[in-house]
Amino acid sequence: MSIDALTLLAPLTGWVVPLSEVPDPVFAGGMMGEGVAIEPADGRVYAPCAGTISQLAKTGHALTLSSDAGADILIHVGIDTVLLNGAGFTARVREGQRVAVGETLIEFDADRVAQGAKSLQTVVLVVNGDAFAPASLGLGRVEGGETALMSVNPRGQTSDEAALSASGEALLAQATVRHGGGLHARPSALVQAAAKPFAARVEVRFGGRSAKAASVVGLMRLGTDEGDTVEVSAQGADAAAALAAVVAAIETVTTVPEPTPTPAVPQAAQQGPRFAGVCAAPGLAVGTLVRLDHGLPELAETPAGADAEFTRLASALASVREQIDAMVHGARARGLTQQADIYSAHLALLDDPELAATAENSVANGMAAGAAFRQAVQVQADELRALDNPLLRERVSDLNDIARQVLTQLAGGRLPEPELAEQSILLADDLAPSELTRLPRERVAGFVTAQGGATSHVAIIARAMGIPALVAAGDGVLGLPAGREVVLDAAAGLLDAEPEAATLSEARQRLALLRDQSARRFAAAHDPALSRDGVRVEVAANIGSLADVEEAVRCGADGVGLLRTEFLFLERDSLPNAAEQRDSYQAIVDALAGKTAIIRTLDVGGDKSLPYLPLPPEPNPALGLRGIRSGFARPEVLEAQLEGLLSVKPLARCRILLPMITDVAELIAVRALIDQIAAQLGVTERPEVGVMIEVPSAAVLADQLSEHADFLSIGTNDLTQYALAMDRCHPGLAAQIDGLHPALLRLVKLTVDGAARHGRWVGVCGALASEPAAVPVLVGLGVAELSVGAALVPQIKAQVRELSVDQCRQEALAMLGLPSAQAVRERVAAVWPQP
Ligand code: PEP
Ligand code: MG
Repeated sequence: MSIDALTLLAPLTGWVVPLSEVPDPVFAGGMMGEGVAIEPADGRVYAPCAGTISQLAKTGHALTLSSDAGADILIHVGIDTVLLNGAGFTARVREGQRVAVGETLIEFDADRVAQGAKSLQTVVLVVNGDAFAPASLGLGRVEGGETALMSVNPRGQTSDEAALSASGEALLAQATVRHGGGLHARPSALVQAAAKPFAARVEVRFGGRSAKAASVVGLMRLGTDEGDTVEVSAQGADAAAALAAVVAAIETVTTVPEPTPTPAVPQAAQQGPRFAGVCAAPGLAVGTLVRLDHGLPELAETPAGADAEFTRLASALASVREQIDAMVHGARARGLTQQADIYSAHLALLDDPELAATAENSVANGMAAGAAFRQAVQVQADELRALDNPLLRERVSDLNDIARQVLTQLAGGRLPEPELAEQSILLADDLAPSELTRLPRERVAGFVTAQGGATSHVAIIARAMGIPALVAAGDGVLGLPAGREVVLDAAAGLLDAEPEAATLSEARQRLALLRDQSARRFAAAHDPALSRDGVRVEVAANIGSLADVEEAVRCGADGVGLLRTEFLFLERDSLPNAAEQRDSYQAIVDALAGKTAIIRTLDVGGDKSLPYLPLPPEPNPALGLRGIRSGFARPEVLEAQLEGLLSVKPLARCRILLPMITDVAELIAVRALIDQIAAQLGVTERPEVGVMIEVPSAAVLADQLSEHADFLSIGTNDLTQYALAMDRCHPGLAAQIDGLHPALLRLVKLTVDGAARHGRWVGVCGALASEPAAVPVLVGLGVAELSVGAALVPQIKAQVRELSVDQCRQEALAMLGLPSAQAVRERVAAVWPQP
């Protein structure tokens, strides 16, 4: 690591000329300070570094920016421009204001100023030359806010002295971007999260641009690609640790979502009524074109004064933050990990300090909150659009997505509901993730967009939801009238806007065959899933709400295998009391029409939080007070929940599941509590009590636990995290954290064997149970129940019916000896090829 000199970016676009050539003896002679001049090519002045505006001429033609390290930089637009008395100048900042690097400081009408002044040459000087020495980085053309212009070094300090100085000069390191596709939204969110715990200010530089590590958009705007080397600087008391964390985040290996990005200018080909595009999610659909015209809403706002507008903006941002947070939790509850990750990245975008600073600046300058936010997003979006990297350009739709939500919030209303057809094929310029996920799934047959790409977030979601999608189909599609019947063959990359009768009927036949298969599966879903050799496997549903139970019943689930109660109470602002909880659980048991619900006690802490149950911050939340441990830490919460559960009737249909049990003492303690509460309530019956196997110790001690538990349910999400020591939310580890790892399979086997000693059954309620590749392996290891996303029940039951459990057993036992998850997956694919 070496000491970082402050690098000033060019404050204007134009041509750098030596200071000595400026037609003003005071500037040219260096009497005001050392520096350079720029012959401007346009009329915008950007902040050359982050800092505070320490002086602003009333006429708006000059200002001094004090960098955080203390260098005072004077930017004086033109020569003798003071005589214009402000004509042609608009200051975009005020004295005392903090600005981010690259932020617009002054705008001026170059033609007008050129006519009234001696010269447009703009000097950039360090005026406290006693403390800081500037060094020009060269002449020639520079881009405002982008090209490095000067380095500014503290005088009289060696590098090492400066490193040790109390204020702490910036420490510098280089890092290689290892994220596939460069620092796009989710990797940038990872870098932002890495910098967050530290007080140090961390910046990342690349290609003459600079971004705060706290700014997701700024990081994206750097336009990096995989393999690029960036410079990272950190300044502040904990700079060294911050620097190391950010470098590690930049160097984390992640893969770009398949397939590779699409070209920005779609290579769309239109042949008559057939439009070619890029397949974002395969599938066939016949449906009615429905236009989604979703430009950003225009607000009719009259600014109500800066203070009032600040408050409006802050409260709109807070509401949208809450909504997106709920979407993250909701998606996680349903096992939709990719969707949850995408919405987490939206949260990071919303919290981007640059976005907020730009909007706040405009508000300070008299703009209304909506217009200010809209403009701030526009600036960032334009910059992303200008980048070479298609993956980053696709993030514009994410920015627009949050802008739409904030503006809608400011307008005090909801987005207008589009008029959907029975089977709609949505048509839009581009589509944002929340626009798709808020629509009723059953009425969306597919979508087509003029823009976009196969790696956009909405494409990832479409694949996960099984919605056929064609993107980058070109502007021509936007001319198609709504209401016509079209055929979308996304896998073939085609939209047929005027299908001939034969095409329509062939597409309908193919769809009918698929529908028949799914209808057959659906019809059979209410029957038990018996393997070819007659072994019954229970297929239950994971749920998070009463609405999910209805879906579970409709899809033929044999019961509820996991109700995550933390999701049931997510939308409340206080913890429900015992009676309220009883009502919720009772409604779920009643809706199950005779089947059984396994209800898990609150699992907060780690990756899950409830706003009204704040837990103290912890250095290692995943290893801290979570699951049943938080219940022991807040006994009144656990007791109220057990009281609610013990009041459900009939108790035989309500099983209690305990999360994050480590060993038998915890189980015995909860059992004693159940007995005590039941006695107080006068309840003589006891519900079955099960233990989640999520901690490796629980799998190893399964035989002991089974002595006191009625059943065990393996939470593969956590068990994988803890067995492989890989954070389940770490995007950089997503490719390696695989539940089919042989280490996991051995833990499953230990669990089943331990349970068998006491005649207990074992289920799996983690996401692995929903994976077709894992089903034969888990069944082969002796798992008796698979609890999956409700919609998957018919498919998983159909799969079980094709299996021979005997063969599964032989294969699964052999897999325990394989060296890697990949080897297991290859073996599964060879033995049970997926259609
Ligand atoms: C698990 O860990 O696999 C599980 C089902 O629990 P959750 O995902 O809610 O932590
Ligand atoms: Mg878990």
